[in-house]
Formats: sequence, structure tokens, C-alpha cells
Amino acid sequence: MKILIGSNNKGKIEEYRALLGSNFDPLPLSELGINLDVEEAGSTYEENALIKLNFLKGKCNFPILTDDSGIEVECLHGRPGIYSARYAGDNATDDANIDKLLDELDGTSSRRAKFVCSIAYFDPTNNSEIIMCNGECEGEILQDRRGVSGFGYDPIFYLPILQRSFAELAKEEKNTLSHRYKAVRELLKRINI
Ligand code: IMP
Repeated sequence: MKILIGSNNKGKIEEYRALLGSNFDPLPLSELGINLDVEEAGSTYEENALIKLNFLKGKCNFPILTDDSGIEVECLHGRPGIYSARYAGDNATDDANIDKLLDELDGTSSRRAKFVCSIAYFDPTNNSEIIMCNGECEGEILQDRRGVSGFGYDPIFYLPILQRSFAELAKEEKNTLSHRYKAVRELLKRINI
């Protein structure tokens, strides 16, 4: 079944393809020629995922999944948080966001952090209500980048338990423990898949 993912981020779409499994065929917004012209003005991940979902509702006749995610650093009181994508400014690159975060943490030994993901899901074929699901993954921020896979902040997010960064994990491995995996697992349970 087709499912519209409210993103054009290649890394995210690929993860959703793996996480949702063979029941779903995830389509990026570009496939339907949709420009997600909304301001992510919410004060939580859930609110932002809902803002995106409400914009997309009615634009296709198959399920829609939107998400909002980010990385929260304990000693920065949860920053960058919902501002993760634009931490170094509007349209900032992943590299610029990472550089800003590493600069801010320069000389800091307390580097605990977590990734957070909120998903909003709506299926127009059964007119169900919107389903919200959340997932978190705890780790630490490295002093420097490590690894080349993944996207976003993956090269600086370290999992002490595996002694590797997200960017050093195989995709399949990240997809068994990430914040996005946990949110999708809850979603699949709630829609009985
Ligand atoms: P948004 O959810 O598209 O608004 O983006 C959230 C920000 O957090 C972006 O900068 C992403 O690159 C980053 N982010 C979200 N999930 C991950 C992840 O699994 N790995 C690395 N960065 C992520």
C-alpha cells in the first residue's frame, strides 16, 4: 500500500521504507509534487508532526505519515530539540548544524543526549482518527564526527552500549534501536500490522 511520508529527506524515507516493511510503499512529497509549505510553529515534536499532517490531509487517498524529530542535549537544557534541522540557521546543512553543536559543547565533559521522534499517521481509507506515536534513543555527543552512514547528526551521536556512533552502524542495526524505529514499532502495533 502506498503511504505518503511528509518529507523529502532521502535518509528518512529510506529508513521508513525499511521500518514500515513490505506492507507499505513510502512516497516522498516530491513524488506527488507537493511542497510542504507550512511553518513548523509548534512548541513540541507532536505539534509539528500534526501541523504537517493537517496540511497534507485530503491531498491523497492513501495513508499519510508525518514526523518531527530532533536531538536533545542534556547540558544544553534540551537544545537543539525541535530546532535541530535549523540549528545553524534556516536551510542549514547537516554539517553546519553539527559544527554549531560541537562548538557549543567544546570543553564540556557532560555530553548526554537523546534523539526524539514523534509520528502522526492518518488513513483516509478507513477515516480513522489521527494516531500519534513517539520514540526516544539515548546516547552521547562525540567530540568529533565518526562514521559515514546515515544522515543528520548521526556522525556525532554515540551509543556507549555498542561503542559506535549512529553513522558507524549498518542501516539494519540503526533500525533496531533508533528513536524512529521505536515510534514506528508503536504505530504498527496500533494499526495491527
Ligand atoms: P525534521 O524532523 O525533519 O524537522 O528534522 C529534525 C532534525 O533532526 C534534522 O536536522 C535531522 O537531520 C535530525 N535528525 C532526525 N532524526 C535523525 C536521525 O535519525 N539521525 C540523525 N539526525 C536526525
